[in-house]
Amino acid sequence: MASVPWFGRLSRRWLLWGLTCLLVMALLAVLVFLVREYEETQTLTRLERSAASMSMDVRTGLTRSVQNLLALHSLAPTPSSWPGLAADILASQREIMHLEWRDRDLNPLATRPTPYLPDVYAYRPRRDALPDVIQACLNADRISGPAYSNSYFWPLAQGQGIELMEMCLPLNRDGQADGYLIATYAMAGLLTELIPAEVRRGQRVAWTEPDGTRLTIVGDLPTGLPVMHVNQLVDLPGATYILRLEQPRIADGWLPHVLTVAVAVLALSLLGVLALLARDLRLRQLAEQKLAEALAFRKAMEDSLVTGLRARDMEGRITYVNPAFCQMVGLSAEQLLGTSVPAPYWPPEQIEEYRQRLAVRLAGRLLPREGFESEFMRSDGTRFPVLIIEAPLINAQGTQTGWMSAILDLSEQRRSEEMSRASQERLQATARLAMAGEMASLISHELNQPLAAIASYATGVLNLIGPNQAGADTTELRTAIQRILEQAERAGRVIRSVGDLVRRREREREAVPVAALFDAILPLLQLQARKLGIALDIRVADDCPPVWCDRTMVEQVLLNLARNGMQAMPPGEPSTPSGRRRLRLSAQPVRSASAHSTQRWVEFAVADHGRGISAEDAERLFTPFFTTKPEGMGLGLNLCRTVVEQHGGGLRFEPQQPCGTVFRFTLPAADTL
Ligand code: ADP
Repeated sequence: MASVPWFGRLSRRWLLWGLTCLLVMALLAVLVFLVREYEETQTLTRLERSAASMSMDVRTGLTRSVQNLLALHSLAPTPSSWPGLAADILASQREIMHLEWRDRDLNPLATRPTPYLPDVYAYRPRRDALPDVIQACLNADRISGPAYSNSYFWPLAQGQGIELMEMCLPLNRDGQADGYLIATYAMAGLLTELIPAEVRRGQRVAWTEPDGTRLTIVGDLPTGLPVMHVNQLVDLPGATYILRLEQPRIADGWLPHVLTVAVAVLALSLLGVLALLARDLRLRQLAEQKLAEALAFRKAMEDSLVTGLRARDMEGRITYVNPAFCQMVGLSAEQLLGTSVPAPYWPPEQIEEYRQRLAVRLAGRLLPREGFESEFMRSDGTRFPVLIIEAPLINAQGTQTGWMSAILDLSEQRRSEEMSRASQERLQATARLAMAGEMASLISHELNQPLAAIASYATGVLNLIGPNQAGADTTELRTAIQRILEQAERAGRVIRSVGDLVRRREREREAVPVAALFDAILPLLQLQARKLGIALDIRVADDCPPVWCDRTMVEQVLLNLARNGMQAMPPGEPSTPSGRRRLRLSAQPVRSASAHSTQRWVEFAVADHGRGISAEDAERLFTPFFTTKPEGMGLGLNLCRTVVEQHGGGLRFEPQQPCGTVFRFTLPAADTL
């Protein structure tokens, strides 16, 4: 999966947050809108119901008025007595402006104005309103009942006016038509008198034209507020009016607002909760980030430690190990965790001791702060020394839950201690070697002259005897003196070579046939072999090439190895199955260790049937001055190895079957493959 950069993750989180907030706000806005819509619908329904009841009030009032007027006619038979009775009706029904009794041709028989506005017809005569009266009476005749005219504006003095409506009630007496009763209603009066004041409170009621033009208005509303209205048809015989009821859009009283306010408060608190949640989330993220950083830091610290860490509980079970510890003991954390006594890294032979040590610790006795040394075992069985420093593990409640140990692998320290000891010893040995070298060069210097003298005396004696002196005695004497001369020269060469070696000069190398090397040392070897009763067996492979070497030094090596072999087989010691003690010197060509190399090698072997070399001695065999012989110097093998290695070869030894030792060394062949 492609990794998203941190700023990408951050911006995506913020985007999600923004979207959530927007969604919540949109939902809240919709909720508030719906609540307001609901409230408005409720108010509108209430308004419609109220308008319907007002219309009913008006119609009931008018009906009651008609009944009163009918009663008036039944009581008032003559035009002279009529006005008095009409006055009573006018006094009780303030909405009627004027009452008339007209005959069948609409000629007035008796009239009476309202006592509350007596001069309605002072500015304009009553006859101007006759067309509306006629219209109403025509309708009344047609339906044989009370009929109403359309309303009309009637001007009053001082530029004022009033909206009026005529009602014509056909009269009957003894089954005969007896003219008309005309009642003139004030439109405003209909509203104020027929609709109870408490019903109209807080509302404005008006009569309007179908196009919305207001004819009469009753009631007042505060200006500047948005207003909602309903229209209600008031259907009267002969005319239809529209009653308009208005009220401010925001309804009175606190109750209708509760829902809106509750929703708004809810919305605000939701936003608040969202904000708190966002803050909380941010803080949590910060804390998580810090924790993750701290954990990563701790892990890096644990992983980089070379010190092993191990925690154990009070029962001695391992509860934690760090990578360094796992590496140290060569076991994985899974293999270690949960293991108890004996731990998998305890050497089996020390389990009892460690168990006791653990018991001491579990008993609560603190171990020294500077730690203690112990020995652990790797998974491959090798042991290694460790330094353990332990501290009690205390939890947050202050109780001890186990032990935490820091473990240091001391192998390296021990190795360097050993190395420094060995180098110290080597230094001392080198110093002794240097001294031996100095002595050797002194001796060689001192011996050179007597050896030269021996050589020249031997030459002189040979010359004196002369070649032509016949006789067996002379021949033997000549041979013996010849040997003296050869050995004196050889000793001289050996001494020079030793001097060279000590001075570390470049020695002369040449191609030497292997047989020549053996021939040169054979007389000396035979002397010693004869003395010790040892048989010499010299074998050179037929295809053995000459070797490239410093002849004298290699002879010295062969001599030394052969002498050691013979000394390892003293007379009387167990010998070969054949009963004869035998020293075998052999040489054969060997292949090069490297497949690409063209260098050929010759391997020399010196095999004895002696007592062999113990494992203990084997470790120190090449150490200078190591010897098991009372008269030994302990330098022979060390020198041999140095010589062989200077030639590019190697010197090693191995046990010989059934007893004894074989020393093998390689030298480069003079020719290449
Ligand atoms: P030295 O002969 O003076 O003791 P070397 O370095 O030649 O010194 O030999 C060291 C020791 O190695 C001898 O003292 C002897 O104990 C042991 N050693 C060498 N060669 C043999 C061998 N062929 N068999 C048994 N032990 C040997």
